[in-house]
Amino acid sequence: MHNQKLPIWYHDLYTNGIDVKARFPRDRYQKLLTRLKQSESWDYIEIKSPRKITRNELLIAHSIDYVDRFLAGNLDIKEEKRIGLTPWTARMIERTQRLMGGAIEATEYAIQNGGITGNMAGGTHHAHRDFGSGYCVFNDLAVSAIHAIDNLRLDKVAILDLDVHQGDGTATILQDRDDILTISVHCSTNFPFRKSVSDYDIPVEPSTGDNGYLQQVEKAIQLCLEFEPDLVLYQAGVDGLETDSLGKLSVSRNGMMRRNEMVFNSIFEAQSIPIVVFMGGGYSKPIEHTIDAFEDLFTQAAQFSQKL
Ligand SMILES: [Zn+2]
Repeated sequence: MHNQKLPIWYHDLYTNGIDVKARFPRDRYQKLLTRLKQSESWDYIEIKSPRKITRNELLIAHSIDYVDRFLAGNLDIKEEKRIGLTPWTARMIERTQRLMGGAIEATEYAIQNGGITGNMAGGTHHAHRDFGSGYCVFNDLAVSAIHAIDNLRLDKVAILDLDVHQGDGTATILQDRDDILTISVHCSTNFPFRKSVSDYDIPVEPSTGDNGYLQQVEKAIQLCLEFEPDLVLYQAGVDGLETDSLGKLSVSRNGMMRRNEMVFNSIFEAQSIPIVVFMGGGYSKPIEHTIDAFEDLFTQAAQFSQKL
């Protein structure tokens, strides 16, 4: 047993790989890093630079045609629009490779060392096998889960997706895998309007506040533990906040903190199951509310890391 810093993968391209004119709030990554640097938790955080994911690693969850056309910069306009990080720039390719590499490295580190790790981006649960959607190019959750089992010899991985939107791409890519559990707690009337079928879908009605939301989160955590996973991939989107412009729930900042605490407590502290944190969505106006909630998330993760 030893105290360890929380390793978080981060790259400048997480922000700068997206065009400055894009509607997506690209500044959130840089702003969050600045905020963490100013916080007391900074002493317990170690920033790591992600490598680029390889083509072969992408192919464990995506079709050859889609991967090769993306890497060559040959997606058509319709495909780019469906992903939505437009106007598209050439830097999107390396951004995506680094973002996916960060997920892979955070997953490998969590398996090798136990504890909690994180990628300060991603949670790209709307990416399907042969197309991207909803700000997601490739599916880092699906790739990481398959990588953990097929290449790193884990028996079972659970994906706990608490973003306000359903993990539709994750569900479809992994629908035939009995060794990977997909759980999605999301607002019933949000994007995507055509839902996929996860192993467990837990829809929450619009305008639900802290207590109703946290009851469903508790249910999801119990389902996750019953599966007895060797690793949990936690999609920790904060777009369920009442201030969010894309989510329709009414969860408070404190409610989000309680949610994270429940996850880290029940899965990591009580059961010693390693957790990889994937950042997920957050679109508050102003964006500062989103940054607050993400700062809380990584601060809590750093605090729990100290308990290893
Ligand atoms: Zn979302």
